[in-house]
Amino acid sequence: MKRVAFHTLGCKLNFSETSTISRLFEENGYQKVDFTQAADVYVINTCSVTSNADKECKQIVRSALNVSPDAYVVIVGCYAQLKPEEIANIDGVDLVLGASEKFKLLNYLSDLTKKTKAEVYSCEIEEANFFVDSYSFGDRTRVFLKVQDGCDYNCSFCTIPLARGNSRSDTISNAVKNATEIATQNVKEIVLTGVNLGDFGNSESSSKDQESNKKSQESRVKNQEETFFDLVKELDKVNGIERFRISSIEPNLLKDEIIEYVATSKHFVPHFHIPLQSGSNKILKAMRRRYLRELYSDRVSKIKTLMPHCCIGVDVIVGFPGETEEDFLDTYNFLNELDISYLHVFTYSERDNTDAIIIKNVVPMAVRKKRNKMLRILSAKKQRHFYQQHLSETRTVLFESDNKDGFMHGFTDNYIKVKTTYNPDLINQLKQVQLKELDSDGSMLIIESKEISSLQ
Ligand code: SF4
Repeated sequence: MKRVAFHTLGCKLNFSETSTISRLFEENGYQKVDFTQAADVYVINTCSVTSNADKECKQIVRSALNVSPDAYVVIVGCYAQLKPEEIANIDGVDLVLGASEKFKLLNYLSDLTKKTKAEVYSCEIEEANFFVDSYSFGDRTRVFLKVQDGCDYNCSFCTIPLARGNSRSDTISNAVKNATEIATQNVKEIVLTGVNLGDFGNSESSSKDQESNKKSQESRVKNQEETFFDLVKELDKVNGIERFRISSIEPNLLKDEIIEYVATSKHFVPHFHIPLQSGSNKILKAMRRRYLRELYSDRVSKIKTLMPHCCIGVDVIVGFPGETEEDFLDTYNFLNELDISYLHVFTYSERDNTDAIIIKNVVPMAVRKKRNKMLRILSAKKQRHFYQQHLSETRTVLFESDNKDGFMHGFTDNYIKVKTTYNPDLINQLKQVQLKELDSDGSMLIIESKEISSLQ
């Protein structure tokens, strides 16, 4: 039996796709092993967001070949689509597949002898115009279900449309079928995943008619027969899945009807992750985002009015070209005032083939780093405040399987990270627990494993 090992970089979408590719291998007689173990084939699913993707990829290839020097090494994913030749030049790489080829990987593996020069099968990104459904399974307690891919927006800093193509999505019926299938595997929580999730349904192709769409590329017409809100309502009816979480949604697509529905839903949890990117309208316009900060604060107040306990996460980029100290302080003060729960802070870094790369008034790296640090400190403060608001409440926690220094973790519905002494009986269990205290770094609440049982 041949052995295959996978390494995934980047986002939830990549994790769901690696999982689907790994199932294809298993269906074809391969044994899946851990990436640190000896294997015949190593597959690395790359990301384009990491600034040193090239270096990172080299290290991972080297670590695989240290274990199995004759193994066949395949690189797929966003970075492979954006820079196939760069990847092909990495020592030890045998095959590089672009976005339209990655799910056909097995077709390329009839001969596993190592190549002196990697073979590249890339594509124009326009060819990646079909949707392949995916979900992660077995790697963690929560399952990432991919329902949408690609993006039609044109944010000036972003390479994702170049790496993943235009927006397209699954059909509601297929997404419901996948969720129902996942429910039979004793999974309690599904995280809905996509590049631009709120754009669900706004696509020219779907899994059921991808072949006909491939044939009629000239007559592409966007249609919106199904919406993200329709999807939410249908998934909510799936038996057996206790929790659905929306991974991330653009503020302009987070409509009132979605917020109102989540507020009364038994299964969609009170947690939104909403990219802001900047709190300065000047910078939002330069980024070509489709909203101004006023719309963002309106979304936050709508959520908090209906769900005061809702967790709201925010993506923000610091150091975008032209971001003056005043613009940054606009962002800082805007976030400081906003009733949000945590930030994901990204330092702007130049990307080839984006419009932002030619914008003048580049922010020095040292300043970008300083701004990043300031927002990280603000994030810790926001999170601590959010956690403190929920002290002594009883909430439902889904426990995960990690065991770190004798402790395990779980998340409440509203995304409070909870820590307790490791107890294998709790893995993948939903338990009502009382949130007792913040730990010393203020990042999570501690409860005793014994008390969890007594609260059943
Ligand atoms: S919405 Fe903007 S930042 Fe997000 S994937 Fe699309 S182009 Fe990139």
